[in-house]
Amino acid sequence: MMKTPKLVMIPGPTPVVRSIQAQMGRDTVAFGDKDFIADYKETVAELKGMWRCNGECFVISGSGTLAMEMAISNITQQGDNVLVCSHGFFGDRYTEIAQRKKLNTDTLKVKWGSAPTPELIDEELSKKNYNVVTVTHVDTATGAVVPLKDICSMLKSKHPEVMLIVDAVAAAGGVESYIEWGIDILFTCSQKCFGVAPGLVILWASDRAVQKRKSLPPIPESYVDFEKWIPVMNDPSKYWGTPSINLIWALKESVSIIKEEGITERYARHARQAAIIDAAMESIGFLNAAEVICRAPTLSVYLYPEGSNIVDIDFRTILAEEGVQAAGCLAEFAGKGFRMGHMGNIDKHTLVSAVAAVERTCFRCGYKIEFGKAVGVLQKGLAEEIGE
Ligand SMILES: *Cc1c(COP(=O)(O)O)cnc(C)c1O
Repeated sequence: MMKTPKLVMIPGPTPVVRSIQAQMGRDTVAFGDKDFIADYKETVAELKGMWRCNGECFVISGSGTLAMEMAISNITQQGDNVLVCSHGFFGDRYTEIAQRKKLNTDTLKVKWGSAPTPELIDEELSKKNYNVVTVTHVDTATGAVVPLKDICSMLKSKHPEVMLIVDAVAAAGGVESYIEWGIDILFTCSQKCFGVAPGLVILWASDRAVQKRKSLPPIPESYVDFEKWIPVMNDPSKYWGTPSINLIWALKESVSIIKEEGITERYARHARQAAIIDAAMESIGFLNAAEVICRAPTLSVYLYPEGSNIVDIDFRTILAEEGVQAAGCLAEFAGKGFRMGHMGNIDKHTLVSAVAAVERTCFRCGYKIEFGKAVGVLQKGLAEEIGE
């Protein structure tokens, strides 16, 4: 049988469009290459401006997990009090990272599928003197988004001394966030909403975070030390660790795609399309596992229809044969549904193909649906969709 090309619809890596691939396929040059230095500098400056950052933006080699370490390492020292707000898998990962650093770590856990509210966070922060609080903007295990702007306002008025770290790996570039809201450190990596292959950390630090690092004694980590990278970010002809040259070109192309679409339209598109996909999936009995008030625009957990007798592993295996790579669910959702990323440079062709593959998979799994039902709902939504 002819193989169906793979659509990568997991929550990252996301599809990499041709013009970004072309940048990755270029001849690699020396990191001291004059034109490359200019491209690197411009990309960092663009990202800093787009996220309204008054401090520093860092683009370095690594994955999202490295960004988590970089964020916490630069504004804390042993014995500091840290509150990790967790509404899923990556929140829990932050607890582990903070504990290993011998930070006094408490975790505010909320039910999977919901998100911590400003009120809950305020209540926890009022219990002792915290130095840092972390939140996951969208948790990849649940597809739930936190009310980030409201959390920032609450912190500003009630706990202005507590520094805020935001894990925006599954959000930045698909859901709105600005450093000027009062975020101290926000980060993502290349393979999520930016639609570049894995390999780059993108991290923004407020001026307050940069000053905080300066006020600390030398931190134990060297690779992720702000102090090592600031000179490079300001002048990429300087060296600390070899930059991922081709990925930086790819990121530059991604930034220009975002600018061409318009960043606010990009956020609006993610929200519109997520609602349309939800409606399509719900029309054939799947249920989005996140509560209605906190459904993320970037990825969703779809629970198998009740009474469908769909076997998780069979469903995802057949879905892959039908051309869509989706992710399994984690922890309490494991086996009960699948996770679908819909972030980044995803076009209408991709969405139609993905939902059509879900329909074929339902049929092959013996779950009776009317062909075209979900695709029809999606088509109608996409046809009526009007951007800015
Ligand atoms: C993907 C992800 C990470 C980890 O990123 P890696 O590149 O896999 O290390 C961290 N946090 C969130 C919210 C993510 O979605």
